[in-house]
Amino acid sequence: MISGRGGTMKTRPGICNRKKSFATRDEAERVAARAPFKLRAYRCDLCRKYHLTSRTKGMKTPRYELGR
Ligand SMILES: [Zn+2]
Repeated sequence: MISGRGGTMKTRPGICNRKKSFATRDEAERVAARAPFKLRAYRCDLCRKYHLTSRTKGMKTPRYELGR
């Protein structure tokens, strides 16, 4: 077996490296507040910094809003 089973939801290193990272949550949230769409700051276990994600659980974003 080469790859994992895909059962875990951990951030993968590849994604982490490509994402913009912030040293503090304040910084990340400030950028999130300026974005035209909903972003959420979360701490990354891999780099110990903060990333932004547009995936907000329990919140459905209408498709037409994403296409803008
Ligand atoms: Zn990271």
